[in-house]
Amino acid sequence: MTDALLIDNVHLVSPGRALQRQAAVRIEAGRITWTGPREQASQAVRTVHGHGALCLPGFVNTHNHTPLTIVRGMVEDLGFAPAYTPGIPQGHWLSEEETYLLARLGQMELLMAGCTTVVDYYRAPDALARAALETGLRAFIGGRVMDADTAALAEGRFERDAALGERSLRDSMDLITHWDGADGGRIRAVHAPHAPDTCSRGLLQEVARLAAADGRPVHTHLAQSPLEVDHVRAREGMSPVALLDDVGLLNPNLFAAHGIYMDDADIALAGRAGIKLCHAPIGNAAFGATAPVLALQAAGVQVTLCTDTKSADMFETMRMAIVAARVRAQRFVLDAVTVFGWATEGGAQALGLPDLGRLEPGCRADLVLLDPQAPNLVPVVDGAGILVHAGNAANVRHVFRDGEHLVAEGRPTRLDQQAVLRDAQAVADRLWARARAG
Ligand SMILES: [Zn+2]
Repeated sequence: MTDALLIDNVHLVSPGRALQRQAAVRIEAGRITWTGPREQASQAVRTVHGHGALCLPGFVNTHNHTPLTIVRGMVEDLGFAPAYTPGIPQGHWLSEEETYLLARLGQMELLMAGCTTVVDYYRAPDALARAALETGLRAFIGGRVMDADTAALAEGRFERDAALGERSLRDSMDLITHWDGADGGRIRAVHAPHAPDTCSRGLLQEVARLAAADGRPVHTHLAQSPLEVDHVRAREGMSPVALLDDVGLLNPNLFAAHGIYMDDADIALAGRAGIKLCHAPIGNAAFGATAPVLALQAAGVQVTLCTDTKSADMFETMRMAIVAARVRAQRFVLDAVTVFGWATEGGAQALGLPDLGRLEPGCRADLVLLDPQAPNLVPVVDGAGILVHAGNAANVRHVFRDGEHLVAEGRPTRLDQQAVLRDAQAVADRLWARARAG
């Protein structure tokens, strides 16, 4: 009782439930213990006044690489996989400290956009975990494992770099040893083989063996580009989906980002295996593509949503998921209620957190309050509709994770926002100067 927090005067928008107007939420020991009409709320030690704000569960954003904020705004018009393009800062130039400073920017942005649970993976994963410890996000961190030579990739060639494979696998296992379960289980470690084209068959088999032994989830990219499909077909004589099945990775523990270039056989195979899709509609559309999300869902794939470091805005992502599906189908498919479910409860369930993603007693107290004065959030009639079709990340005013007030009045409480921005800009300035110097 001593730490009871009351969030008063809010309209609750929770997946699967009707909008609850003029409500209050009671939080104790990091969990929601009561929701109901505000006039029935009992006193608490501390009260946060919502002033009629929309209140929703924290978003679950299932696929990001926060250090890639380094190239934001500079590569989107350059075509596929610009990270390998000469003249662009290369990931392997980043020191551990620089990776940390960029991850801190990306994670702060995610948090301020209302994402309380994120999946973040890249090289130098210790830096990502360190950032997560500081930012306060509920984080699933992975060390990117691959054995394709990055210099050759920059020239469009696939060459195996066995030393990189060993080193990245060692970093990934060190991450698991040192970070899995950190801060009372808030930070978890996952396996993260990069993609079927940038990992050799042997490396994928090794990750499959490790994941089968420890039961940890596996996050990867799958069927992301025609280049990947062509390369894997030439190398293995099968599709990327079939390859992952062949090496033992295609199972309910697999989180596959993108899933664009899949034929009917791939979709059926992925559905039977019960994999999870990390749907990134904005990134896909930026490359001129849409993913067969509804066909995958109908086949048995569980759909989750992610911003994939394009922005941290899950509102935009929910909206774009609908737009992309309708453009693909050429008719009205998908609705706000469904994509809101994917962005909250669905993502949480997929990650193995059944007590997350809803505003109900017993659930973890991950909540977001929006700006009650925002013109774009009026009128409030049904909740999910206005959030999905009109909301944006800049509407986020308060964010709680496990009841901890991580964003208050739009400002992070744990971080010096100015310092985070300044440090990330300094890293970008150094890296871009080097890239331009050739
Ligand atoms: Zn990705």
